[in-house]
Amino acid sequence: MNTHSQDPTLSEGSVLVLRAHHGMCLAFFRGEGYSGTFTEHMAKIKASLDRSPDRLLRVTARADDICTACPNLHDGVCETALKTERYDRAVLARCHLEEDTLITWQEFSRRVAENILQAGRRSDICSDCQWDSLCR
Ligand code: SF4
Repeated sequence: MNTHSQDPTLSEGSVLVLRAHHGMCLAFFRGEGYSGTFTEHMAKIKASLDRSPDRLLRVTARADDICTACPNLHDGVCETALKTERYDRAVLARCHLEEDTLITWQEFSRRVAENILQAGRRSDICSDCQWDSLCR
């Protein structure tokens, strides 16, 4: 039985909207974030993706299903949108993806790992992020 049926972001049958740079954040996520509500939400999404590597994502450069629990989201827009969209577009380019591509979590996380993290390019993209020290 699916115990997360009340939250559509945790439903394995739905498409998860994920801004591209969150592929890097999820790789390093260890339970820290902007608020308790936010980190709990992000932990649930990460656990859901770990259970369902074939889940489809729509990778974007706008607010996503992680941002919805973030205190920095105002009227659907990140308060540091210029910076976070720059991260998203850099990740999309390095992963050879167009915005709004549908892709499985397994394939997207593989591209992020191989094209950015293992290639040593992560800091080229987001070294000015407040969480940078957690991702080294
Ligand atoms: S800081 Fe911006 S991009 Fe990051 S989770 Fe919050 S709203 Fe989303």
